[in-house]
Amino acid sequence: MRKRAGVALNVVMLGPPGAGKGTQAERFARTHGLPKISTGDILREAIHADTPLGRSAKTTIYSGALVGDDVMIGIVGERLSRPDTRPGFVLDGFPRTVAQAEALDRLMAGRDPLIIVEIVVPEAELVRRLGTRMICEHCGANAPIGDGATGVCARCGGRLVQRADDNQAVVIERLKVYHQQSEPLVEYFKVRPTFRSIDGAQPPDRVAADLAAAIEAAGNGALRQGVRG
Ligand code: ADP
Repeated sequence: MRKRAGVALNVVMLGPPGAGKGTQAERFARTHGLPKISTGDILREAIHADTPLGRSAKTTIYSGALVGDDVMIGIVGERLSRPDTRPGFVLDGFPRTVAQAEALDRLMAGRDPLIIVEIVVPEAELVRRLGTRMICEHCGANAPIGDGATGVCARCGGRLVQRADDNQAVVIERLKVYHQQSEPLVEYFKVRPTFRSIDGAQPPDRVAADLAAAIEAAGNGALRQGVRG
């Protein structure tokens, strides 16, 4: 669809922690040859590498709070200025506040419109998923739910561990922060013809199919309406 229309697929994934944004963003980005930009991954890599950003963000992340808007906007602004994002990108974890969304709109001036997809999952399911989620200590990959029992990463053979911010107290805090600071983004974006919601409480393959269909429909909607970002 990207080549036919000549329109960049500038995708934003919205949804609470545990909705499956990261998994689905990665899959869509890979199959469409687009860069996936995950602010959670960028911050975790910075912590791992012990950079100044990592050192200053660490306490915030492990408490379940959000890193400051200016820092995040700077990181994403720099990333979106790179040429590999010209055919499009998949943003996972940004924007997370209305101030970040407004900044993203400014960054998109003169580029194709954002396609925004919200992944909806009931709260009880989120708590269950986050409590059992395992990630690879070595490469950071999410292990599919249930595979934690093998203790080994399917991608690189590394050890599976619980993410430091997935313990119960921090999960509850992250969901609270989501409702207060990130849920208003749905209101902010939903008036646009390029906004779609999909059901994330389905098997991953179904969610992936719904996501691809939603992005295609939103992209065509944007073209028909001649909307430009
Ligand atoms: P989740 O599983 O909650 O979607 P992420 O991996 O996206 O988690 O993010 C982990 C943590 O990194 C967040 O709880 C937050 O502290 C920080 N973070 C990630 N993206 C942002 C952002 N856009 N603004 C502020 N903080 C962020």
